Amino acid sequence: MDLFNYKNETLFCEELPIPEIAEKIGTPFYLYSKNTLLRHYRKLDESLAGIDHIICYAIKANPSLGICKLLADAGAGADVVSGGELRRALQVGIPPEKIVFNGNGKTAEELRAGLDADILMFNVDSESELLLLEKIAGEMGRRARVSLRVNPDIDPQTHPYISTGLKKNKFGVSIDNALELYKEAAMMPNIDVVGIHKHIGSQITKLSPFVDSMERILALRDELDRSGIDIGYIDMGGGIGITYDDEHPPTFEEYVNAVRPLIGGSDRTLIIEPGRVLIGNAGILVTKVLHVKKTPEKNFIVVDAAMNDLIRPSIYNAYHRIIPVKSRSEQNDVITADVVGGICESTDFFAKGRELPAVKPGELIAIMSAGAYGSAMSSNYNSRPLIAEALVDGAELKTIRRRQSYEEMVSLESF
Ligand code: PLP
Repeated sequence: MDLFNYKNETLFCEELPIPEIAEKIGTPFYLYSKNTLLRHYRKLDESLAGIDHIICYAIKANPSLGICKLLADAGAGADVVSGGELRRALQVGIPPEKIVFNGNGKTAEELRAGLDADILMFNVDSESELLLLEKIAGEMGRRARVSLRVNPDIDPQTHPYISTGLKKNKFGVSIDNALELYKEAAMMPNIDVVGIHKHIGSQITKLSPFVDSMERILALRDELDRSGIDIGYIDMGGGIGITYDDEHPPTFEEYVNAVRPLIGGSDRTLIIEPGRVLIGNAGILVTKVLHVKKTPEKNFIVVDAAMNDLIRPSIYNAYHRIIPVKSRSEQNDVITADVVGGICESTDFFAKGRELPAVKPGELIAIMSAGAYGSAMSSNYNSRPLIAEALVDGAELKTIRRRQSYEEMVSLESF
């Protein structure tokens, strides 16, 4: 459910016509609907009613301060994976007691920053990290609250590049060795063992991988109970999928109802780390058609955004719906084309062989469902400055990141 809709053949974001926004800030740009985002957050929160829980927004999905601040004000915690994300979370006012620190490559400096901030817990990925955290906490005269990220060896049935909970993936401690490492951690003087964490992947559209992995985690929890290791937090990670094309991911109710019986009745706090499902469909990429090129082989619609702005199609062959900002009443005026950017790579595309209304140079198109892992993964490749990000709240427009200037882009360099 989102608030991007046509009114009189013009695409609106909430109450604002997109051509008007494009006129003000220039293309290309990311555009977010505040009320779509908040609606997603509140629905998820409501679905979790009756379960003691913390929703830790996965900042990696969209780290824009303007987005993080909305979720902070709505009551969210944060899942951070770097010192930079930790700073963003703290900067927008997310309380440290709602911050979990993930990632398989935390540096000593990042562990120190987390301890300094007194975050809720570190989701420790390996014995090596555990030993480093124990040492640093000791040096700082602190105790580190710890969950182990457990790899439950469950196939999330998603794109292999965003699968994380299989034995062959680099993440977490194998479920077979977890009990042993928990026992080791429980003996460490500067470590408080407080939880279990798992995250099996992203864009998961079936319930069974969540349920299967949860069952494995809860079996481990029972073993920990029997060993006298008391776990207060069960962190289920993120991964709930969204509709990009014709997928039917579980609703929040279905998701919560499926896992509720597994947790039900326990006095543990459930942590969930959603990213994509909150912001994915709350954002779009608006771009202008530069050229329509017809070759004997195929047609190309060349736009002013490129893979450096939205890389998901290039690296995951991801599907994004593409629609014209001005719709047509004439249905038969169509073109089948690749929608491409202007970067010197053949993988610089947003769609291949897509049937679209026959757009012309100068027209605006919207690349939908671009709120998550869009701007977050953008780069300056081909020396293209980062594009603007804007937020709509009703009839109000706010730029939450202005377009980067050439000078800013080269400001760290010298010759
Ligand atoms: N938690 C962890 C540990 C992750 O690695 C990720 C994404 O990769 C997320 C949460 C968020 O996942 P999603 O955006 O699919 O909800």
